[in-house]
Amino acid sequence: MTLNEQETAAQDTAVRNVIIIGSGPSGYTAAVYAARANLSPLVFEGSVTAGGALMNTTEVENFPGFRDGIMGPALMDEMRAQAERFGAELVADDVVEVDLTGDVKVVKTATDTHLAHSVILATGSGYRKLGLEKENTLSGRGVSWCATCDGFFFRDQHIAVVGGGDSAVEEATFLTRFASKVSMIVRRDELRASKIMQERAFNDPKLEIVWNSAVSDIHGEDKVSGITLTDTVTGQTRDLDATGLFVAIGHDPRSELLKGQVDLDSEGYVLVKHPSTATNLAGVFACGDLVDHHYRQAITAAGTGCSAALDAERFLAELE
Ligand code: FAD
Repeated sequence: MTLNEQETAAQDTAVRNVIIIGSGPSGYTAAVYAARANLSPLVFEGSVTAGGALMNTTEVENFPGFRDGIMGPALMDEMRAQAERFGAELVADDVVEVDLTGDVKVVKTATDTHLAHSVILATGSGYRKLGLEKENTLSGRGVSWCATCDGFFFRDQHIAVVGGGDSAVEEATFLTRFASKVSMIVRRDELRASKIMQERAFNDPKLEIVWNSAVSDIHGEDKVSGITLTDTVTGQTRDLDATGLFVAIGHDPRSELLKGQVDLDSEGYVLVKHPSTATNLAGVFACGDLVDHHYRQAITAAGTGCSAALDAERFLAELE
C-alpha cells in the first residue's frame, strides 16, 4: 500500500477518544485511568522495550504497595494486566510518525494509521550509556543509573560513579550515605558541575575523585566485582575494586517524533502547562520522564500518567 493509499484508508477509520504512546509506568497508568473512564484507549507499547525502563532492573523497593519489594518486570506486568482488565487495547508496536497539530490527531506505525481526538505522550527518556559490553547484562546487578532507586542496595560497599556534572555529584554525595567509599570517575582534570556542587564533592570525606579516567571494562558474571579504568592522558589501565557502578552521564528524552510539533525545552523534554499535563497543542498531553528531568521515579511517572488521563478525559468532555 502506498503512503497516499494508507492515508486514505486512515481517513475512513473511526476517530478514537485517546491514543497513548508509551508503556512505562506513565503510559500504563494513563491507560488504566482512561480505560476506567470508558475512553477505550489504544496504547502503543513499543516493539522492543514494552514495559519501559523498569524492565531492565531487578528489585524495586520504593513503589508503594509492595512492602517486600517487587521485581521491575513483574511490576510492569501487573500494570499492563490492570490496564488490559479495564479494556485498554495494547499494541506492541512503535509509533513512527505523528501529526498532532489538527483537531484529529494522526498516529502512524510502520503499517497502520490511527486517528484520535486526543493523544497522551508517554515515551520516557533513556539514560546515556557507557557502551561497554557488560553494562546491560549487569544492569540491576551492580550497574545502575539511579542512586535514589538503588543506593540502598550498596550499604558498606565501594561504589564508583561515572560523570563530572551536577547530577553525577548529586548521585555521588547521596551514595556516600550508604557506601563505605565513593569514587567519582571523571574524564578530565576538572568537574563540569557548578561551584557549589564542586565544593560539596570536595568536602565530602567519603568521596574521592579519580581524575583523567574512563571506565573501560566491567568485571563480574552475576554481579559487578570490579572495574577497569583507563587514564585518558597516559592510556594506562588499572583496576578498581568497586562492587557498584553508577552511570551519571545524562539522559535523553524520547521526543524525536515530536520535533516541530509539540513545544520542547532546550534539552528536548516536552513542555507542559504545569500543574496540568497539557502541551501547547489542544488535545495533546504529556507525562512521565518525557517531561520530568527532575524526579524521574516510577511513582512520579505513574502520578503524571494519571493526571494526563484525567486531563484528556476533561478535554474530551468539553468537545461533546
Ligand atoms: P519509561 O519507563 O521509559 O517508558 C517509556 C515507554 O515508551 C517504553 O516502553 C518505550 O518502549 C515506549 N516508547 C518510546 N518510544 C515509543 C514509540 N515511538 N512508540 C511506542 N512506544 C514508545 N524508579 C523507581 O521509582 N524505582 C526504582 O527502583 C527504579 N529503578 C530503575 C532502574 C533502572 C535500571 C532504570 C533505567 C530506571 C529505574 N527507575 C526506577 C526509574 C523509572 O524506571 C523511570 O522513572 C520510569 O520508568 C519512567 O516511566 P515512563 O513511563 O515515563 O517511561
